[in-house]
Amino acid sequence: MKIHNQSTGLYWFRHDCRINDMPALNTLSETVDILLCVYVIDDEWFTNSQWQSHPMGEHRWRFLCQGLVELNQSLTEQGNRLVVVNGTGALPIQHLIDKFSVSHLGYSEHCGVYEKKAIEQIALSHPNLRFITSNASHLYEPPTLPFSIDSLPDSFSAFRRKVEKRAEVADIAEELTHLPPSPDVNERDNQFKEKIIPASCLDTDASSQGFRGGEKQGVAQLNYYLFETDLVARYKETRNGMLGWDFSSKLSAWLSAGHLSPRYVFKQLQQYEQQRVQNDSTYWLFFELLWREFFHLHALKVGKRLFDFGGVQQQKPNTVFNAAKFTQWCLGKTGFDIVDACMRELNATGFMSNRGRQLVASCFVHELGLDWRYGAAYFEQQLIDFDVASNYGNWQYLAGVGCDPRGHRQFNLQKQTQQYDPNQQFRKAWLRFD
Ligand code: FAD
Repeated sequence: MKIHNQSTGLYWFRHDCRINDMPALNTLSETVDILLCVYVIDDEWFTNSQWQSHPMGEHRWRFLCQGLVELNQSLTEQGNRLVVVNGTGALPIQHLIDKFSVSHLGYSEHCGVYEKKAIEQIALSHPNLRFITSNASHLYEPPTLPFSIDSLPDSFSAFRRKVEKRAEVADIAEELTHLPPSPDVNERDNQFKEKIIPASCLDTDASSQGFRGGEKQGVAQLNYYLFETDLVARYKETRNGMLGWDFSSKLSAWLSAGHLSPRYVFKQLQQYEQQRVQNDSTYWLFFELLWREFFHLHALKVGKRLFDFGGVQQQKPNTVFNAAKFTQWCLGKTGFDIVDACMRELNATGFMSNRGRQLVASCFVHELGLDWRYGAAYFEQQLIDFDVASNYGNWQYLAGVGCDPRGHRQFNLQKQTQQYDPNQQFRKAWLRFD
Protein backbone atom coordinates (compact mmCIF):
# COMPACT_ATOMS: atom_id res chain seq x y z
CA MET A 1 0.00 0.00 0.00
CA LYS A 2 1.37 3.45 -0.95
CA ILE A 3 1.55 6.07 1.74
CA HIS A 4 0.78 9.77 1.11
CA ASN A 5 1.70 11.71 -2.05
CA GLN A 6 4.95 11.07 -3.81
CA SER A 7 7.02 9.69 -0.97
CA THR A 8 10.73 9.39 -1.77
CA GLY A 9 12.98 6.61 -0.58
CA LEU A 10 16.75 6.29 -0.72
CA TYR A 11 18.44 2.92 -0.87
CA TRP A 12 22.07 3.12 0.22
CA PHE A 13 24.05 0.30 -1.42
CA ARG A 14 27.17 -0.49 0.60
CA HIS A 15 28.42 -4.06 0.88
CA ASP A 16 25.34 -5.40 -0.92
CA CYS A 17 25.79 -4.39 -4.56
CA ARG A 18 23.19 -6.71 -6.08
CA ILE A 19 19.48 -6.77 -6.77
CA ASN A 20 18.67 -10.33 -5.70
CA ASP A 21 18.12 -11.41 -2.10
CA MET A 22 17.65 -7.81 -1.02
CA PRO A 23 14.79 -7.80 1.50
CA ALA A 24 15.19 -4.13 2.43
CA LEU A 25 15.28 -2.99 -1.20
CA ASN A 26 12.12 -5.01 -1.90
CA THR A 27 10.25 -3.52 1.05
CA LEU A 28 11.41 0.00 0.28
CA SER A 29 10.29 -0.39 -3.36
CA GLU A 30 6.84 -1.43 -2.14
CA THR A 31 6.66 1.52 0.23
CA VAL A 32 7.70 4.63 -1.74
CA ASP A 33 6.76 6.25 -5.06
CA ILE A 34 10.20 7.54 -6.03
CA LEU A 35 13.44 5.79 -5.28
CA LEU A 36 16.98 7.11 -5.28
CA CYS A 37 19.56 4.29 -5.48
CA VAL A 38 22.92 5.53 -4.23
CA TYR A 39 26.46 4.29 -3.82
CA VAL A 40 29.06 6.43 -2.05
CA ILE A 41 32.71 6.25 -3.00
CA ASP A 42 34.19 7.27 0.32
CA ASP A 43 37.12 9.73 0.27
CA GLU A 44 38.58 7.87 3.27
CA TRP A 45 39.37 4.93 1.00
CA PHE A 46 42.01 7.03 -0.69
CA THR A 47 43.36 8.85 2.36
CA ASN A 48 46.72 8.06 3.96
CA SER A 49 46.73 6.90 7.57
CA GLN A 50 49.24 5.67 10.13
CA TRP A 51 48.68 2.16 8.87
CA GLN A 52 48.67 2.42 5.12
CA SER A 53 49.04 4.74 2.14
CA HIS A 54 45.35 4.19 1.37
CA PRO A 55 43.04 1.28 2.07
CA MET A 56 41.69 0.66 -1.43
CA GLY A 57 44.15 -1.25 -3.60
CA GLU A 58 43.83 -1.43 -7.37
CA HIS A 59 42.39 -4.97 -7.52
CA ARG A 60 39.51 -4.31 -5.15
CA TRP A 61 38.87 -0.91 -6.70
CA ARG A 62 38.56 -2.40 -10.16
CA PHE A 63 36.38 -5.26 -8.91
CA LEU A 64 34.15 -2.80 -7.11
CA CYS A 65 33.77 -0.53 -10.16
CA GLN A 66 32.86 -3.50 -12.34
CA GLY A 67 30.20 -4.43 -9.80
CA LEU A 68 28.81 -0.89 -9.81
CA VAL A 69 28.50 -0.83 -13.57
CA GLU A 70 26.62 -4.11 -13.50
CA LEU A 71 24.41 -2.93 -10.67
CA ASN A 72 23.56 0.18 -12.67
CA GLN A 73 22.61 -2.00 -15.65
CA SER A 74 20.36 -4.17 -13.49
CA LEU A 75 18.66 -1.16 -11.93
CA THR A 76 18.23 0.44 -15.36
CA GLU A 77 16.53 -2.71 -16.66
CA GLN A 78 14.05 -2.24 -13.81
CA GLY A 79 13.42 1.42 -14.70
CA ASN A 80 15.75 2.99 -12.15
CA ARG A 81 19.49 3.75 -12.10
CA LEU A 82 22.48 3.93 -9.78
CA VAL A 83 23.71 7.31 -8.62
CA VAL A 84 27.37 7.17 -7.59
CA VAL A 85 28.68 10.05 -5.47
CA ASN A 86 31.85 11.00 -3.61
CA GLY A 87 32.10 12.09 0.00
CA THR A 88 32.97 11.05 3.52
CA GLY A 89 30.94 8.76 5.73
CA ALA A 90 27.29 9.73 6.08
CA LEU A 91 27.63 13.27 4.69
CA PRO A 92 26.61 12.63 1.05
CA ILE A 93 23.58 10.62 2.20
CA GLN A 94 22.54 13.34 4.66
CA HIS A 95 22.82 15.86 1.84
CA LEU A 96 20.66 13.77 -0.51
CA ILE A 97 18.05 13.10 2.19
CA ASP A 98 17.62 16.87 2.58
CA LYS A 99 17.68 17.70 -1.13
CA PHE A 100 15.11 15.12 -2.08
CA SER A 101 13.00 15.23 1.08
CA VAL A 102 13.61 11.53 1.59
CA SER A 103 11.16 9.92 4.00
CA HIS A 104 12.56 6.35 4.06
CA LEU A 105 16.15 5.08 4.07
CA GLY A 106 16.87 1.47 3.14
CA TYR A 107 20.12 -0.40 3.70
CA SER A 108 21.56 -3.77 4.72
CA GLU A 109 23.01 -3.98 8.20
CA HIS A 110 26.79 -4.35 8.26
CA CYS A 111 29.04 -5.25 11.18
CA GLY A 112 31.71 -2.59 10.42
CA VAL A 113 32.21 0.09 13.07
CA TYR A 114 32.48 2.81 10.43
CA GLU A 115 29.30 1.63 8.68
CA LYS A 116 27.34 1.55 11.93
CA LYS A 117 28.56 5.00 12.95
CA ALA A 118 27.37 6.47 9.62
CA ILE A 119 23.85 5.15 10.22
CA GLU A 120 23.85 6.46 13.79
CA GLN A 121 24.81 9.93 12.51
CA ILE A 122 21.98 9.89 9.97
CA ALA A 123 19.47 8.81 12.64
CA LEU A 124 20.62 11.66 14.87
CA SER A 125 20.48 14.34 12.17
CA HIS A 126 17.14 13.11 10.74
CA PRO A 127 14.93 12.01 13.65
CA ASN A 128 11.82 11.70 11.45
CA LEU A 129 13.44 9.49 8.84
CA ARG A 130 12.13 5.92 8.71
CA PHE A 131 14.55 3.05 8.29
CA ILE A 132 13.98 -0.14 6.33
CA THR A 133 16.81 -2.59 6.95
CA SER A 134 17.75 -6.22 6.48
CA ASN A 135 20.36 -8.72 7.64
CA ALA A 136 20.94 -10.39 4.31
CA SER A 137 24.73 -10.26 4.63
CA HIS A 138 24.34 -12.87 7.39
CA LEU A 139 23.36 -16.51 7.02
CA TYR A 140 21.10 -16.26 10.05
CA GLU A 141 18.68 -13.58 11.16
CA PRO A 142 20.45 -12.47 14.37
CA PRO A 143 17.21 -12.43 16.44
CA THR A 144 16.64 -16.13 15.64
CA LEU A 145 20.03 -17.17 17.04
CA PRO A 146 20.05 -19.18 20.28
CA PHE A 147 22.08 -16.39 21.99
CA SER A 148 22.20 -12.61 21.95
CA ILE A 149 25.08 -10.92 20.10
CA ASP A 150 26.57 -9.92 23.47
CA SER A 151 26.69 -13.55 24.55
CA LEU A 152 28.05 -14.93 21.27
CA PRO A 153 30.33 -17.83 22.26
CA ASP A 154 34.01 -16.86 22.38
CA SER A 155 35.15 -19.80 20.27
CA PHE A 156 34.10 -20.84 16.78
CA SER A 157 33.51 -24.45 17.86
CA ALA A 158 31.04 -23.51 20.58
CA PHE A 159 29.28 -21.16 18.15
CA ARG A 160 29.06 -23.83 15.45
CA ARG A 161 27.66 -26.46 17.80
CA LYS A 162 24.92 -24.09 18.95
CA VAL A 163 23.83 -22.82 15.55
CA GLU A 164 23.94 -26.23 13.94
CA LYS A 165 21.64 -27.60 16.62
CA ARG A 166 19.32 -24.69 17.17
CA ALA A 167 19.24 -22.23 14.26
CA GLU A 168 18.02 -22.22 10.64
CA VAL A 169 19.67 -20.34 7.79
CA ALA A 170 17.24 -17.61 6.71
CA ASP A 171 15.33 -17.89 3.44
CA ILE A 172 16.33 -15.72 0.52
CA ALA A 173 14.12 -12.77 -0.35
CA GLU A 174 11.54 -12.95 -3.12
CA GLU A 175 12.63 -11.80 -6.54
CA LEU A 176 12.52 -8.04 -7.07
CA THR A 177 9.63 -7.37 -9.40
CA HIS A 178 9.27 -3.63 -9.36
CA LEU A 179 11.38 -0.55 -8.73
CA PRO A 180 9.85 2.92 -8.49
CA PRO A 181 11.44 5.50 -10.82
CA SER A 182 14.45 7.58 -9.87
CA PRO A 183 14.11 11.35 -9.36
CA ASP A 184 15.91 13.61 -11.80
CA VAL A 185 19.06 14.05 -9.82
CA ASN A 186 20.98 16.70 -11.76
CA GLU A 187 18.03 18.95 -12.40
CA ARG A 188 17.17 19.15 -8.72
CA ASP A 189 20.65 19.81 -7.45
CA ASN A 190 23.19 21.68 -9.50
CA GLN A 191 25.71 21.45 -6.64
CA PHE A 192 25.58 17.73 -7.02
CA LYS A 193 28.49 16.00 -8.71
CA GLU A 194 28.13 12.46 -9.82
CA LYS A 195 31.24 10.36 -9.80
CA ILE A 196 32.29 9.01 -13.16
CA ILE A 197 33.89 5.59 -12.97
CA PRO A 198 37.23 5.62 -14.80
CA ALA A 199 37.16 3.67 -18.07
CA SER A 200 40.38 1.86 -17.11
CA CYS A 201 38.43 0.11 -14.35
CA LEU A 202 35.88 -1.20 -16.80
CA ASP A 203 38.24 -2.72 -19.33
CA THR A 204 36.92 -6.23 -19.84
CA ASP A 205 40.39 -7.75 -19.94
CA ALA A 206 41.50 -6.04 -16.78
CA SER A 207 40.36 -8.73 -14.37
CA SER A 208 42.58 -10.15 -11.66
CA GLN A 209 42.76 -13.84 -12.58
CA GLY A 210 39.11 -14.96 -12.82
CA PHE A 211 37.84 -12.19 -10.58
CA ARG A 212 35.46 -9.89 -12.35
CA GLY A 213 33.05 -7.88 -10.25
CA GLY A 214 29.27 -8.07 -10.50
CA GLU A 215 26.32 -10.18 -9.41
CA LYS A 216 26.12 -12.11 -12.68
CA GLN A 217 29.81 -13.03 -12.48
CA GLY A 218 29.35 -14.11 -8.87
CA VAL A 219 26.43 -16.34 -9.78
CA ALA A 220 28.45 -17.73 -12.69
CA GLN A 221 31.40 -18.61 -10.41
CA LEU A 222 29.08 -20.31 -7.92
CA ASN A 223 27.47 -22.25 -10.71
CA TYR A 224 30.91 -23.17 -12.08
CA TYR A 225 32.15 -24.46 -8.72
CA LEU A 226 28.98 -26.44 -8.05
CA PHE A 227 26.93 -27.59 -11.01
CA GLU A 228 29.31 -27.18 -13.97
CA THR A 229 32.40 -28.87 -12.54
CA ASP A 230 31.35 -30.66 -9.32
CA LEU A 231 34.53 -29.23 -7.78
CA VAL A 232 32.67 -28.71 -4.54
CA ALA A 233 32.34 -32.47 -4.11
CA ARG A 234 36.14 -32.63 -3.55
CA TYR A 235 36.51 -29.34 -1.66
CA LYS A 236 37.61 -30.90 1.64
CA GLU A 237 40.60 -32.55 -0.08
CA THR A 238 41.59 -29.59 -2.25
CA ARG A 239 40.83 -26.56 -0.06
CA ASN A 240 44.38 -26.26 1.31
CA GLY A 241 45.79 -25.86 -2.18
CA MET A 242 47.83 -22.82 -3.12
CA LEU A 243 48.16 -22.78 -6.89
CA GLY A 244 45.44 -22.32 -9.50
CA TRP A 245 41.77 -21.44 -9.62
CA ASP A 246 39.92 -24.64 -8.75
CA PHE A 247 41.21 -25.70 -5.32
CA SER A 248 38.69 -23.52 -3.47
CA SER A 249 35.44 -21.75 -4.36
CA LYS A 250 36.93 -18.23 -4.91
CA LEU A 251 33.61 -16.80 -3.79
CA SER A 252 35.09 -14.48 -1.17
CA ALA A 253 35.41 -11.41 -3.41
CA TRP A 254 31.75 -11.57 -4.50
CA LEU A 255 30.63 -12.22 -0.92
CA SER A 256 32.66 -9.28 0.40
CA ALA A 257 31.28 -6.82 -2.13
CA GLY A 258 27.83 -8.28 -1.59
CA HIS A 259 27.42 -9.31 -5.22
CA LEU A 260 26.33 -12.61 -3.67
CA SER A 261 24.55 -13.11 -0.36
CA PRO A 262 25.73 -15.97 1.87
CA ARG A 263 22.11 -17.18 2.04
CA TYR A 264 21.99 -17.54 -1.71
CA VAL A 265 25.27 -19.48 -1.69
CA PHE A 266 23.86 -21.74 1.03
CA LYS A 267 20.60 -22.38 -0.87
CA GLN A 268 22.51 -23.26 -4.03
CA LEU A 269 24.73 -25.59 -2.05
CA GLN A 270 21.66 -27.25 -0.57
CA GLN A 271 20.19 -27.67 -4.03
CA TYR A 272 23.46 -29.19 -5.23
CA GLU A 273 23.37 -31.66 -2.32
CA GLN A 274 19.80 -32.64 -3.21
CA GLN A 275 20.46 -33.01 -6.94
CA ARG A 276 24.02 -34.36 -7.05
CA VAL A 277 25.88 -35.42 -3.94
CA GLN A 278 26.04 -34.65 -0.25
CA ASN A 279 29.36 -35.49 1.38
CA ASP A 280 32.04 -34.19 3.77
CA SER A 281 33.20 -31.74 1.15
CA THR A 282 29.84 -30.12 0.55
CA TYR A 283 29.44 -29.87 4.33
CA TRP A 284 32.88 -28.28 4.56
CA LEU A 285 31.96 -25.40 2.29
CA PHE A 286 29.08 -24.67 4.66
CA PHE A 287 31.52 -25.01 7.57
CA GLU A 288 33.69 -22.26 6.03
CA LEU A 289 30.66 -20.03 5.50
CA LEU A 290 30.04 -20.49 9.21
CA TRP A 291 33.51 -19.11 9.90
CA ARG A 292 32.55 -16.01 7.95
CA GLU A 293 29.31 -15.76 9.90
CA PHE A 294 31.14 -16.19 13.21
CA PHE A 295 33.59 -13.40 12.42
CA HIS A 296 30.76 -11.08 11.35
CA LEU A 297 28.85 -11.66 14.60
CA HIS A 298 32.08 -11.40 16.56
CA ALA A 299 32.78 -8.01 14.93
CA LEU A 300 29.32 -6.85 15.98
CA LYS A 301 29.98 -8.02 19.52
CA VAL A 302 33.45 -6.54 20.04
CA GLY A 303 33.12 -3.27 18.05
CA LYS A 304 36.32 -1.23 18.09
CA ARG A 305 38.24 -3.89 20.04
CA LEU A 306 38.61 -5.68 16.70
CA PHE A 307 41.37 -3.16 15.92
CA ASP A 308 43.12 -3.09 19.32
CA PHE A 309 46.75 -4.16 19.49
CA GLY A 310 45.92 -6.33 22.53
CA GLY A 311 42.92 -7.70 20.66
CA VAL A 312 39.74 -8.91 22.25
CA GLN A 313 41.86 -10.56 24.95
CA GLN A 314 43.39 -7.15 25.83
CA GLN A 315 46.85 -8.70 26.01
CA LYS A 316 49.47 -6.77 24.10
CA PRO A 317 51.79 -9.06 22.11
CA ASN A 318 55.54 -8.70 22.38
CA THR A 319 55.93 -7.31 18.85
CA VAL A 320 56.77 -3.88 17.35
CA PHE A 321 56.65 -2.09 14.02
CA ASN A 322 59.90 -2.20 12.05
CA ALA A 323 59.81 -0.35 8.72
CA ALA A 324 62.57 -2.36 7.01
CA LYS A 325 61.13 -5.77 7.92
CA PHE A 326 57.63 -4.62 7.06
CA THR A 327 58.73 -3.52 3.58
CA GLN A 328 60.53 -6.82 2.99
CA TRP A 329 57.38 -8.71 3.90
CA CYS A 330 55.16 -6.53 1.70
CA LEU A 331 57.45 -6.94 -1.30
CA GLY A 332 57.88 -10.68 -0.82
CA LYS A 333 61.58 -10.39 0.14
CA THR A 334 61.74 -11.97 3.59
CA GLY A 335 63.93 -14.91 2.54
CA PHE A 336 61.17 -17.40 3.45
CA ASP A 337 60.36 -18.67 -0.03
CA ILE A 338 56.81 -19.76 0.66
CA VAL A 339 55.97 -16.41 2.26
CA ASP A 340 57.65 -14.44 -0.51
CA ALA A 341 55.76 -16.37 -3.20
CA CYS A 342 52.44 -15.73 -1.43
CA MET A 343 53.11 -12.01 -1.03
CA ARG A 344 54.04 -11.66 -4.69
CA GLU A 345 50.85 -13.42 -5.67
CA LEU A 346 48.89 -11.04 -3.47
CA ASN A 347 50.55 -7.97 -4.97
CA ALA A 348 50.04 -9.20 -8.53
CA THR A 349 46.46 -10.50 -8.26
CA GLY A 350 44.80 -9.27 -5.05
CA PHE A 351 44.24 -12.88 -3.97
CA MET A 352 46.01 -15.37 -1.73
CA SER A 353 44.88 -18.84 -0.63
CA ASN A 354 43.71 -19.38 2.94
CA ARG A 355 46.78 -21.53 3.61
CA GLY A 356 48.99 -18.74 2.28
CA ARG A 357 47.26 -16.12 4.44
CA GLN A 358 47.90 -18.19 7.55
CA LEU A 359 51.56 -18.68 6.70
CA VAL A 360 52.36 -15.06 5.86
CA ALA A 361 50.49 -13.81 8.94
CA SER A 362 52.29 -16.30 11.18
CA CYS A 363 55.62 -15.25 9.66
CA PHE A 364 54.75 -11.56 10.16
CA VAL A 365 54.02 -11.96 13.87
CA HIS A 366 56.20 -14.83 14.98
CA GLU A 367 59.27 -14.82 12.71
CA LEU A 368 59.55 -11.09 12.02
CA GLY A 369 58.12 -9.96 15.37
CA LEU A 370 55.94 -7.28 13.76
CA ASP A 371 52.84 -5.50 15.08
CA TRP A 372 49.92 -7.46 13.53
CA ARG A 373 47.88 -4.31 12.82
CA TYR A 374 50.27 -3.31 10.03
CA GLY A 375 49.93 -6.70 8.38
CA ALA A 376 46.15 -6.53 8.63
CA ALA A 377 46.17 -3.02 7.13
CA TYR A 378 48.35 -4.19 4.24
CA PHE A 379 45.86 -7.01 3.58
CA GLU A 380 43.05 -4.49 3.73
CA GLN A 381 44.77 -2.52 1.00
CA GLN A 382 45.72 -5.41 -1.26
CA LEU A 383 42.99 -8.06 -0.93
CA ILE A 384 40.34 -8.13 -3.61
CA ASP A 385 38.04 -9.81 -1.06
CA PHE A 386 38.80 -7.55 1.90
CA ASP A 387 36.14 -8.01 4.54
CA VAL A 388 36.68 -6.14 7.79
CA ALA A 389 35.32 -8.85 10.09
CA SER A 390 37.12 -11.80 8.44
CA ASN A 391 40.38 -9.94 7.99
CA TYR A 392 40.81 -8.41 11.44
CA GLY A 393 39.24 -11.45 13.12
CA ASN A 394 41.69 -13.82 11.41
CA TRP A 395 44.69 -11.55 12.06
CA GLN A 396 43.90 -11.30 15.77
CA TYR A 397 43.43 -15.05 15.86
CA LEU A 398 46.86 -15.64 14.32
CA ALA A 399 48.51 -12.99 16.48
CA GLY A 400 47.25 -14.86 19.56
CA VAL A 401 44.97 -12.02 20.73
CA GLY A 402 41.68 -13.07 19.14
CA CYS A 403 38.91 -15.56 19.64
CA ASP A 404 41.14 -18.62 19.77
CA PRO A 405 41.07 -20.83 22.86
CA ARG A 406 44.53 -22.21 21.94
CA GLY A 407 46.14 -18.77 21.88
CA HIS A 408 49.43 -19.34 20.05
CA ARG A 409 49.43 -20.26 16.34
CA GLN A 410 52.98 -20.32 15.09
CA PHE A 411 53.34 -22.33 11.90
CA ASN A 412 56.52 -24.24 11.20
CA LEU A 413 57.22 -22.70 7.80
CA GLN A 414 59.63 -25.39 6.69
CA LYS A 415 57.21 -28.19 7.49
CA GLN A 416 54.28 -26.35 5.92
CA THR A 417 56.28 -25.72 2.77
CA GLN A 418 57.05 -29.42 2.46
CA GLN A 419 53.44 -30.35 3.06
CA TYR A 420 51.67 -27.84 0.85
CA ASP A 421 54.20 -27.15 -1.91
CA PRO A 422 56.23 -30.39 -2.07
CA ASN A 423 57.16 -30.02 -5.75
CA GLN A 424 57.87 -26.30 -5.55
CA GLN A 425 55.24 -25.60 -8.16
CA PHE A 426 53.71 -22.71 -6.26
CA ARG A 427 57.04 -21.16 -5.32
CA LYS A 428 58.36 -21.52 -8.86
CA ALA A 429 55.26 -19.86 -10.26
CA TRP A 430 55.74 -16.71 -8.18
CA LEU A 431 59.50 -16.53 -7.62
CA ARG A 432 60.54 -17.34 -11.18
CA PHE A 433 61.38 -13.74 -12.11
CA ASP A 434 64.28 -13.47 -9.62
P1 FAD B 1 36.79 -21.09 0.30
O1 FAD B 1 37.82 -21.97 0.93
O2 FAD B 1 36.16 -21.58 -0.92
O3 FAD B 1 35.69 -20.81 1.42
C1 FAD B 1 34.34 -20.43 1.09
C2 FAD B 1 33.99 -19.15 1.80
O4 FAD B 1 34.01 -19.33 3.22
C3 FAD B 1 34.95 -18.02 1.54
O5 FAD B 1 34.64 -17.36 0.32
C4 FAD B 1 34.73 -17.13 2.76
O6 FAD B 1 33.57 -16.32 2.61
C5 FAD B 1 34.47 -18.14 3.86
N1 FAD B 1 35.71 -18.43 4.59
C6 FAD B 1 36.61 -19.41 4.34
N2 FAD B 1 37.61 -19.40 5.25
C7 FAD B 1 37.33 -18.37 6.09
C8 FAD B 1 37.97 -17.85 7.24
N3 FAD B 1 39.13 -18.37 7.75
N4 FAD B 1 37.43 -16.75 7.84
C9 FAD B 1 36.29 -16.21 7.37
N5 FAD B 1 35.62 -16.68 6.30
C10 FAD B 1 36.14 -17.75 5.68
N6 FAD B 1 38.40 -13.74 3.94
C11 FAD B 1 37.72 -12.73 3.37
O7 FAD B 1 36.68 -12.95 2.74
N7 FAD B 1 38.18 -11.44 3.47
C12 FAD B 1 39.33 -11.12 4.15
O8 FAD B 1 39.67 -9.93 4.23
C13 FAD B 1 40.07 -12.19 4.73
N8 FAD B 1 41.24 -11.94 5.38
C14 FAD B 1 41.92 -12.99 5.94
C15 FAD B 1 43.11 -12.74 6.64
C16 FAD B 1 43.84 -13.78 7.20
C17 FAD B 1 45.11 -13.49 7.98
C18 FAD B 1 43.38 -15.10 7.08
C19 FAD B 1 44.16 -16.25 7.65
C20 FAD B 1 42.20 -15.37 6.40
C21 FAD B 1 41.45 -14.33 5.84
N9 FAD B 1 40.25 -14.58 5.14
C22 FAD B 1 39.56 -13.52 4.61
C23 FAD B 1 39.64 -15.92 5.14
C24 FAD B 1 40.00 -16.84 3.96
O9 FAD B 1 41.38 -16.87 3.78
C25 FAD B 1 39.33 -16.42 2.65
O10 FAD B 1 37.95 -16.21 2.87
C26 FAD B 1 39.48 -17.48 1.59
O11 FAD B 1 40.84 -17.79 1.39
C27 FAD B 1 38.87 -16.99 0.28
O12 FAD B 1 38.99 -17.94 -0.72
P2 FAD B 1 37.74 -18.81 -1.21
O13 FAD B 1 36.55 -17.94 -1.43
O14 FAD B 1 38.20 -19.64 -2.33
O15 FAD B 1 37.47 -19.66 0.10
